[in-house]
Amino acid sequence: VPINVLLICGGGGSEHDVSLRTADFIQRHLEAVDDISLARAEMDGNGRLTAPDGRERRLGQDRMLRDDNGAWEVHYVVPSIHGYPGETGDLQSQLELFGIPYYGCGPEASKLCFNKVTTKLWLSALGIDNSPYQFLCSNEPEEIAKATMALQQWGAVFVKASNQGSSVGCYKVTAKEELQRALARAFELSPYVLVEKCLKVRELEVAAYTYEGELIITPPGEVCAPSDTFYSYEEKYAEGSRAVTHVEAQGLSNAQLGWIREASRRAFVGLQLKDLSRIDFFLTDDGGLYLNEVNTFPGMTSISMFPKMLENAGHDFSRYLTSLIRAAVR
Ligand code: ATP
Ligand code: MG
Ligand code: MG
Ligand code: MG
Repeated sequence: VPINVLLICGGGGSEHDVSLRTADFIQRHLEAVDDISLARAEMDGNGRLTAPDGRERRLGQDRMLRDDNGAWEVHYVVPSIHGYPGETGDLQSQLELFGIPYYGCGPEASKLCFNKVTTKLWLSALGIDNSPYQFLCSNEPEEIAKATMALQQWGAVFVKASNQGSSVGCYKVTAKEELQRALARAFELSPYVLVEKCLKVRELEVAAYTYEGELIITPPGEVCAPSDTFYSYEEKYAEGSRAVTHVEAQGLSNAQLGWIREASRRAFVGLQLKDLSRIDFFLTDDGGLYLNEVNTFPGMTSISMFPKMLENAGHDFSRYLTSLIRAAVR
């Protein structure tokens, strides 16, 4: 009997379209697998599901997927959603309630890592260096004063909405005049805003995932954003992006590689991640290393780093995902 896998994509967040592209990638890698039967449904911001032919679908507590064509038993779900309600852990909570196994991190780890404030608190608790920051609870004058001081102290800062990905709601600010506008825009997206010291000289990323029960941490890859900007939404996904990626970063010392590996392992274990993550670092001029963030459901578009690093580590994405599915269902 085949394993019935439901691929849920889209979601209600700013990364809806990227989620569809990630789902295309996953679909291509599961379609040809003998013992897997795949169904796809797009989820909107209210949790409603639609089949590729536009038909409405419903996932019931009895694990049956229904539409006016009939019913189909779901054995496993791949929540291919960046942002709400997938990467935020909400969909995973429902799957836990329904008792359906799924790809990726559980609700708690997802929620914790998607929120940039809680991520930082946990990283510090785990003893993992991360960038200096202030965090703002509101856009009121006394809170803005904290941001102004941070900018004065650090010269350049990143203003970030706490609950976004793909660099949405993320602004580099170097002048006082730009600060209020960046804060206002970030607060439109999220209830908390981070003001981080601008650190980056080099931007490194590892893929951390489980393959046949073993935690794999790849050597770091590198993303090089054009010098006049940062790794913004456009440089990540737009046609004509000038960002250059290297599947393996060059010129790092063994000590640096070791530090990144150990920090990644500690983050994966300490945050109780499952199946996959992409963990991002900054390396400064003077050799300082900082963990920037943990992405529990990284992008898997044709230019994305996670699948490239996995394949560079000698793993085949189809076989990796299939082995996780079989282990969870059997
Ligand atoms: P992702 O798409 O990886 O989920 P994100 O939206 O969660 O991204 P970050 O990775 O935190 O956001 O920031 C986006 C980009 O902004 C980084 O890749 C980097 O280029 C730049 N950036 C963020 N914080 C800093 C910092 N403290 N110093 C320098 N550059 C930064
Ligand atoms: Mg992120
Ligand atoms: Mg992300
Ligand atoms: Mg990032």
